[in-house]
Amino acid sequence: MSASASGVFEAKFVIVGGGIAGVSCIETLSFYCQTESILLLTESPIIKAATNLVALGKSLTRFDIEQKHASTLPANVQVVTDRLLEVDSHQKIIRTAQQNHLIKYEFLCICTGARPKIVDQINATNQKYILGIRDTESVCDFEKRIQNSRKIVIVGNGGIASELVYELKNVAIEWVVKDKYVSQTFVDPGAATFFQTRIKNKSAESSGSSSQANRPRLIKRMRYTEDAEETVKKSGAALGPDWHTLFNLTGKNEDLPKAVHIHYQTGIKNIDINPICDDQFPVRVTLQNDEVLECDFVVSATGVVPNLNFKMRAEQFRFGPDGGIFVNELMETSISNVYAAGDVCFAGWEWAPHWFQMRLWTQARQMGAMAGKSMAAKYNDQHIYPDFCFELFGHVTQLFGYQVVLLGKYNGQGLDNKYEALLRVTQDKEYIKYVLVDGKLQGAILIGETGLEETTENLILNQLDLTPYGDDILDPDIDIEDYFD
Ligand SMILES: Cc1cc2nc3c(=O)[nH]c(=O)nc-3n(C[C@H](O)[C@H](O)[C@H](O)COP(=O)(O)OP(=O)(O)OC[C@H]3O[C@@H](n4cnc5c(N)ncnc54)[C@H](O)[C@@H]3O)c2cc1C
Repeated sequence: MSASASGVFEAKFVIVGGGIAGVSCIETLSFYCQTESILLLTESPIIKAATNLVALGKSLTRFDIEQKHASTLPANVQVVTDRLLEVDSHQKIIRTAQQNHLIKYEFLCICTGARPKIVDQINATNQKYILGIRDTESVCDFEKRIQNSRKIVIVGNGGIASELVYELKNVAIEWVVKDKYVSQTFVDPGAATFFQTRIKNKSAESSGSSSQANRPRLIKRMRYTEDAEETVKKSGAALGPDWHTLFNLTGKNEDLPKAVHIHYQTGIKNIDINPICDDQFPVRVTLQNDEVLECDFVVSATGVVPNLNFKMRAEQFRFGPDGGIFVNELMETSISNVYAAGDVCFAGWEWAPHWFQMRLWTQARQMGAMAGKSMAAKYNDQHIYPDFCFELFGHVTQLFGYQVVLLGKYNGQGLDNKYEALLRVTQDKEYIKYVLVDGKLQGAILIGETGLEETTENLILNQLDLTPYGDDILDPDIDIEDYFD
């Protein structure tokens, strides 16, 4: 590895992006290539690493996200803090935006993540009232605004919107979801109903009948600390889990009785500005069903798009249908010696029957590790196979205070509604759903502390015919693990 005063750097492996994908790529690379030069180019010196990994099954892992300073990376990793401007794949060189550094590479891995999609109705007049949440900077902005807000509109039905609805206090929320039920990205209508108590409790809390401190929290998931000074100054890195616990998400509304009002199966038609006068909300949101909502500002949490904020000078990437960089199962892009991993890429290989791509920490970590392994193998002239983790979709998260484990085709994805669902629900405790086709388990949702993760994973992977067990499979009086041990 060499660096000169003229801003010319050179490394065998160059990784762009210090999120989960980039860092897990570097960790894997430095394990396989301990003496080779590795360079991380990242916008922020604060990087994200997966720690405290707990294996809940063969491919299902729960982990914490820790924010670290990039200087904690292994000794053979050099860090350049700047933004990638341009890739010249013929010269095998990249250029940075701020300091105009040139970085020569032999292998390059792009892990620039994704950025939030903002509602289409944004324009020069209303843009300062519409916020997308992605990185520390955007949450700092959100935190400042929420403290002076009485009512906001949240648009979107994924994890971020659900988390916000659950975590915000003293602010009335108009939640606009395009679907028939909430949290559709992650769960089914049954589970959404299961969550209703938590949403209703939230309304009660905000109207003063219950306190935040009394709210049941089944699990304390991931925690990390963040340097306040860095937080204010640095943007770029996506947030870690439990990001909301680091910020004060309390509004100033103590009067409006019902905190959460959900508008199903609609979207935004228009966002206009009210002429400001004392008692009025500054923003008027017209929904597609012509209902008009007034609010202090709008949070747009409608998903993400791959972050391609740099130019390609020589060859162009092949892209997937979602605009992500097309990669094969070894994380190779269409350009020789250039890899991509995490939210920025599109998984372009033929997916295993129970796997699909979803832009989540779990997959960012798995893809990053695969890219590291793959680059090391190519460098060492070795042959490798795709990782086992791409055999089965698995994700552990938290929604409305519950641990939520999603496995395989948990929502009947791609099954064309031709499946049978077995349910076991204990209100306020657990929600278990098995998705079966011809008696074989295709996917599952496990909400609460079910202890069924590993057995369920095995049942999906083995494709055992469960017909002989009938409904016993989820009978609360029968320990299904005993069946299969
Ligand atoms: C608010 C929020 C909540 C979320 N909640 C969850 C959740 O509960 N569970 C879950 O699994 N997932 C969640 N996600 C999704 C998760 O954050 C992403 O899937 C994951 O961070 C992707 O990792 P990544 O490494 O691909 O990208 P990122 O984490 O976005 O990292 C990209 C990195 O690239 C850097 N970068 C970007 N462009 C450049 C450039 N041109 N030059 C140099 N560096 C650059 C950035 O600074 C950053 O360090 C959430 C996302 C958000 C925004």
